[in-house]
Amino acid sequence: MIIRLLKERCTGCGKCVEVCPFAAIDWKDNLPVINENCRFCRKCLQVCPEKALVMEGQEVKRDTSGYRGIWFFAEQRHGRLASVSYELLQACLEMKAVLGEEVSGVILGYRIEHLAGSLISRGCDRVYMVDRPELEIFLEEPYALALTELVRQHRPGIVLASATMMGRSFIPSVAARLGTGLTADCTQLHIDPESKLLVQTRPTFGGNLMAQIICRYHRPQMATLRPKMVEEAKPVDNLQGCAVKSDISAELSSLVKLLTQKKAENLVDLQEAEIIISGGRGLGEGKNFQLLRELADLLGAAVGASRAAVDAGWIPYPHQVGQTGRTVKPKIYLACGISGAIQHLAGMRTSDFIIAINKDPEAPIFKVAHLGLVGDLFQIVPALIRKLKEIRG
Ligand SMILES: Cc1cc2nc3c(=O)[nH]c(=O)nc-3n(C[C@H](O)[C@H](O)[C@H](O)COP(=O)(O)OP(=O)(O)OC[C@H]3O[C@@H](n4cnc5c(N)ncnc54)[C@H](O)[C@@H]3O)c2cc1C
Repeated sequence: MIIRLLKERCTGCGKCVEVCPFAAIDWKDNLPVINENCRFCRKCLQVCPEKALVMEGQEVKRDTSGYRGIWFFAEQRHGRLASVSYELLQACLEMKAVLGEEVSGVILGYRIEHLAGSLISRGCDRVYMVDRPELEIFLEEPYALALTELVRQHRPGIVLASATMMGRSFIPSVAARLGTGLTADCTQLHIDPESKLLVQTRPTFGGNLMAQIICRYHRPQMATLRPKMVEEAKPVDNLQGCAVKSDISAELSSLVKLLTQKKAENLVDLQEAEIIISGGRGLGEGKNFQLLRELADLLGAAVGASRAAVDAGWIPYPHQVGQTGRTVKPKIYLACGISGAIQHLAGMRTSDFIIAINKDPEAPIFKVAHLGLVGDLFQIVPALIRKLKEIRG
């Protein structure tokens, strides 16, 4: 595709240059010249009063009519389904209400037959399982080969995965093999009631804008969804579905050979934590996180942080909560010395119970807190620690 200028029509008004959001039009000899920044958004075509700009070449359109069904990749490790699998199922069930198409889960692994039932009992119509020894331990290539072949066999219209380490690592390869697009790390997914297309919402430009992306001409429509963006699907009595043991012909080999496995130590799993104690700039310096760690140990909690604390080098990035960090939904979220900027709230505001400690009574964090303590965290947190130690003897 190219955008061509019909020189004989152009009056040199410059409107196209003004309207271009990508700085993709240079000005040479009183005429516009399209440069390599062009994203074919057509804004210049629409604004040109003389119709002097024309698009040439065909957009590649494929026949998408044979693709039906809403699929999700149900993540499992060591024979247990991850909670994100139920979140994806819930997202798919909401889409089913608009599209009226079957929801199917895909489980890859070895000796996984027992897992299908819990998806079916929560509303999944069908569960495809590829049960092979090569899939016992997660490796990107065999997982990508297996899922790609299944999609080719059944041609679903939508394939979703969670934006976890696993989903992020192998789903792009599946999309590339299928020759379709992928919107990674979405915060929201829904079906447009008119076009019936999957609308994929995700932060862009460093989190300053939310983009809505659709995949009009290729199938399946693929996206990864951030964990904790939707509730988990709940079990319902008397639901029926079927489990299908799928045969695939692909040789599930990998260039990577797994030699040994070592359990990660000190891994922060904020998304699975029931209680999170988070610290921000109000802590003053990195060593003061020790105070929060002490409280967290007493409560069996994980330690989170604002971006200000992470940027200051007080605590590593995996602890960051917010728009450019983790999205969390613990039972209790305790924010200590965190002001409550919109980007921080984006990652924690759906927590069940939010407690905020801040010495500024006007701090925005108090607008979302269920319980607010106005005061100095260096007095309140040690008092809490003392009290907990006292109670536990
Ligand atoms: C594109 C983009 C993405 C971003 N992503 C994230 C993100 O993912 N996560 C995130 O957190 N931020 C993010 N930010 C940054 C965000 O805008 C804020 O700058 C940041 O959250 C502020 O962190 P803070 O609340 O720790 O610091 P501050 O805003 O400086 O607040 C410190 C608070 O501590 C209080 N305080 C100070 N001393 C004490 C004390 N002794 N006791 C009690 N309270 C005290 C103060 O009253 C103040 O309210 C992002 C920004 C942008 C532009």
